[in-house]
Amino acid sequence: MSRHHYLGLILLVFVVSLFVPAKSDGQLVRRVLLLNSYNRDMLWTDSITRGVSDVLSKDSTSYKMYVEHMDTKNYFSPEYLELLKEQYRFKYSDVAFDAVIVSDDNAVNFAVNNRSLFNNAPIVFCGVNDLDFHNTHDMSNMTGVLEFTDIRLTIEAALRLQPDLKRMYVVVDDTTTGMISRKLIQDILPDYRGRLDFAWIDKMSMAEVKKTISNLAKGSAVLLASFNRDGLGNWYTYTESITQLRSVTSVPIYGMWDFYLGRGIVGGMITSGYRHGVMAAEIALDIMNGMKPSDIEVVTQDSNQYMFDYNELESFDINPRLIPKNSVVINKPINLYERYRSQILIAALLVLTMILFIFKLLASNRAKRLVENELEEMNKYQESLIEQRTEELVQRSRELEMANHELKKVDNLKTAVVNTVSHDLRTPLTSVLGFCKIIERDFIKYFVPLCSEYADLGERSERIRKNLGIIESEGERLTRLINDFLDLSKIDAGEIAWNDVSIDTNELFVQALPILEGYFTGTAVKFHMEVDDNLPGVVADPDRLLQVLNNLVGNAAKFTFHGSVNLRVTTTEGGWLKATVSDTGMGIPKEELANIFDKFYQVTQSTINTNIARGSGMGLAISKRIVEHYGGMISAESEHEYGSSFTFTIPTTAK
Ligand code: ADP
Repeated sequence: MSRHHYLGLILLVFVVSLFVPAKSDGQLVRRVLLLNSYNRDMLWTDSITRGVSDVLSKDSTSYKMYVEHMDTKNYFSPEYLELLKEQYRFKYSDVAFDAVIVSDDNAVNFAVNNRSLFNNAPIVFCGVNDLDFHNTHDMSNMTGVLEFTDIRLTIEAALRLQPDLKRMYVVVDDTTTGMISRKLIQDILPDYRGRLDFAWIDKMSMAEVKKTISNLAKGSAVLLASFNRDGLGNWYTYTESITQLRSVTSVPIYGMWDFYLGRGIVGGMITSGYRHGVMAAEIALDIMNGMKPSDIEVVTQDSNQYMFDYNELESFDINPRLIPKNSVVINKPINLYERYRSQILIAALLVLTMILFIFKLLASNRAKRLVENELEEMNKYQESLIEQRTEELVQRSRELEMANHELKKVDNLKTAVVNTVSHDLRTPLTSVLGFCKIIERDFIKYFVPLCSEYADLGERSERIRKNLGIIESEGERLTRLINDFLDLSKIDAGEIAWNDVSIDTNELFVQALPILEGYFTGTAVKFHMEVDDNLPGVVADPDRLLQVLNNLVGNAAKFTFHGSVNLRVTTTEGGWLKATVSDTGMGIPKEELANIFDKFYQVTQSTINTNIARGSGMGLAISKRIVEHYGGMISAESEHEYGSSFTFTIPTTAK
C-alpha cells in the first residue's frame, strides 16, 4: 500500500467516526444502580453484587454500574432512611439511571417509595422474601426475583442421601428470616408424619446447640434454617455459625443458603445470592433492551438449584451417586479426564493412530512374509523342477551315452563285418578271376584250334571267349569295388595305415607317368603331364598320393572321348603342391558338382546311354579324405559337355 493509500484510509476512518456517536456521550452507556439492603460484609449481599457485576461487566463499555449498601441490618430508623434519601439525592440528581436493581425487602420498599431519586428508572428486585410481594405491591415499572427457600426439596434431598434418615434436627433462630423458615417448616411437617421426625433446636445458647448436635444418633441429620442469634442474644455471622456447628456435629447438616455451602453444610435446594444477582441483572438488560417490566414475569422458584459439597458427602460417607440429577457439586475432586480432556483426546488419538500404524505395519509385514513365503515356495518349486529336469537330462545323456556306446559297438561290428566280408569276398573273387584266366588260356590253347574246323563251333567259341572276358572285367570291377569300399570303411573307422615318408615329388611323378599314360592306351585321347622343376618335398604315404592321381586321371580318361587330358603340377606362392587334372570330356552338370565328392555319388547321365563301365562312386570320396588327411583341399570345376578340371593341394616341406 502506498503512502497516499494510508492517508486516504485514515481520513475515511475520521469522517466515519464523526457520524458514529461515541459511547461516552451518555446515549449508549447505560447506567445501572444496585441498591443493596444490607452491608457488603454480608455474604448474601456480596454474592448478589458479584452476580450483577459479572453480567454487566461482560459488556463494560455499554453499562456503568453503581453500587449502594443501605446497611439496614444495623440501621433502620426513619431518620436514617431520611439521611439516605438526602445522600442519594445529593449523589444522583444528575445521573440518569436506566435501571435500578434492588436486593432484599428493605431496599425494594425504599426504591419503590423514592422512584424520583433514581430517575424513575424501572426497578428489578431480587432476594425478596415476601412471596406475595408482587400481589400486594404496585408493580408498575417493576419486576424481579423472589427469594424462595425450598425447605421441602432440601428435606427430600436429605432423605435421598441418607436412606436411614429418621430424625431431622432443625436449627432455627428468632430473626425475621428464622421466623419465616420456622413457619415454612411447620407447614410441611404433617407431610412427613410417620416418615421423619422433626426436633427443634431453638432458643439455645451456641454451646447448648453444639452439645446437642455433637451427640446425635445415626439416622439423624441437622437442618440449618437460620442461626445468626442464639438464645442468649449473641450475634453470629453466617460463617461463624456454620463453622461452629460443623466443628462438632456428628451427623450431616443440610441447608438452603449458598453462604453456608462450602463452609459445612452437605447441601440442599440452595437459594443463591449470586444466582439472584445474575437473574436480576439479566432482567435489567432485557428491560434496557426494550422489554417492558410488566411483560416480564416475577421469578419465584426457578432461582434455586440443588447444590452439594463433595467434601461433606465424603466425610459423612454419603454416596455421591445418590445426589439428584443436574445438581451442582462443589469441591469435586478434579477429574483428570475433565481437566485434561483435550490433551487426553489428542494423546488417545495419537495412540490410536500409532496402533493403526502398527497394525498396518504388522499387516504389511505379514503380507511381506506371505510374499516371501510364496517366493520361497516358488523357488523351491523351481529348484525341484530344475532338479527334476537335471535328473532327466542326466538320464537322457546316460541313455545317449549308452546309445552312442551301442552305435559304436554296431559301427565296430559293421567295420568288422565289412572287413571280414570284403576279405572273404576278395579271396574267392581272386580265385574266380584266376580260374577264369586259366580257362580262357586253356580254351584258347586247346579248344579254339579244334573249333576252327567246325563253322558253327567257331562262332560259339567266340561267344564263350567274350563271356569269359565279361566275367573277367566284372570280376575286376567287383575287386575294385571291394577295394574302394574297404579303403573308405577303414579311413572312416580310422583304421587305415598311413605309411608316411618323405617323398621326392619330382621322382613320384616320373614313376607315376607310365601308369597314368596306361589309361589312354588304345584311345584317341592324348595325355600330357607338365611338372614344374624342383618341386618341394612332401611327407605322405606315396601309395595314397598315387591313389588320388590314379582316381583323377582315371576318371578323366573314363569320361573323355576325344581331345586331351592334362596333368599340371606346380608349387603355389604359399609353398603348397598343386596338381590339376583337366580334360575335354563330357563335363559335370552344375547342380551335381557339389555332390560328386559324396560317398557312392555318381552323375546319372555319365553312365546312362554310354558305354562307360560303372564305377563305384567312391573314388572321389576316398581322394577327398586322403587330401584332407594331409591338410590339403580338393575341388572340381566343370562345364557340362566341354570338360572338367580337378585340383588338389597339399602342404609341402617348403611351407
Ligand atoms: P566312379 O568310380 O563312378 O568314377 P568317382 O567318385 O571317381 O566314382 O566319380 C564319381 C562320379 O563323378 C563319376 O561317376 C562321374 O559321374 C563323375 N566324374 C568324375 N570325374 C569326372 C570327369 N573327369 N568327367 C566327368 N565326370 C566325372
